[in-house]
Amino acid sequence: MIALGEARLKSYIKTIGLFNTKAKNVIALSRILHDAYGGAVPRDREALEKLPGVGRKTANVVLNIAFGEPTIAVDTHIFRVSNRTGLAAGKTPLHVEKKLEKKTPAEFKQHAHHWLILHGRYICKARTPECWRCLVSDLCAFKPKSSLPAPVNDRRKISKKKKIILNRS
Ligand code: SF4
Repeated sequence: MIALGEARLKSYIKTIGLFNTKAKNVIALSRILHDAYGGAVPRDREALEKLPGVGRKTANVVLNIAFGEPTIAVDTHIFRVSNRTGLAAGKTPLHVEKKLEKKTPAEFKQHAHHWLILHGRYICKARTPECWRCLVSDLCAFKPKSSLPAPVNDRRKISKKKKIILNRS
């Protein structure tokens, strides 16, 4: 990474959000890993969180993915799903993380955050959760559940009717 340099790293990651800051942080943390840790990533939360751009969530991801620890990294999807469903309601990501840790059976802890992220990204979406095709709908406290949207043609008809009504009023 250090040999690659910031400018060339940017050219590889420019399709992701905040790539400028991420490239800067990756180069800076690579220097620290090289100089202070002999090029190895430390298996230590405190040390990880001291690296540029690394907060609790990223430290949890590294501990989970690189070292196989049963951590739960709370991102925006997990935070939303946990609060919306009532699985682990909390005002902060740390609060949600602590509750999820308590509630998740040991055998599922290793991969729980992946399943929750995928569920939030593809089913329990931020704007409109797709409750009509949700496999855990019966376990979820969210009300009211969303129902299957009308087919596109029907939606056009409905919005046409709405326009007519609005024009008349
Ligand atoms: S039922 Fe709806 S709100 Fe509840 S988890 Fe499923 S998609 Fe999300």
